[in-house]
Amino acid sequence: MSNKDAHILLVDDSAFMRNVLKNILEKEGYKNVDEAGNGKEALEKIKAKKPDLMLLDVIMPEMGGIDVIKKLGKEHKIIVVSAVGQDKVVEEAKEHGAVGYIIKPFDNNQVVEEVKKILA
Ligand SMILES: [Mg+2]
Repeated sequence: MSNKDAHILLVDDSAFMRNVLKNILEKEGYKNVDEAGNGKEALEKIKAKKPDLMLLDVIMPEMGGIDVIKKLGKEHKIIVVSAVGQDKVVEEAKEHGAVGYIIKPFDNNQVVEEVKKILA
């Protein structure tokens, strides 16, 4: 399987942010990018198909990113996408198994580099 076939799940309550991330990744050649609007939806999607990588927002309704990491951080590759200045959140995410971080606002290259690094 080429890296570009990796199943990437974007989890964010902002449709705009999911779109931004999806465009960045598809432009880079990733063909298998899926979306979920909150943690609960992400858990449902994961049941059907295990992603190779998740990009995970922190603040979301229903179920936030930290709860997702607490549940899945040890068995899934998760990159946390969090707002600048949330050092505590990043610390907690790390503790529970997150493997990467993207700090908002980000530029396209940061996203691509982080994803490449984790999927390598
Ligand atoms: Mg959010």
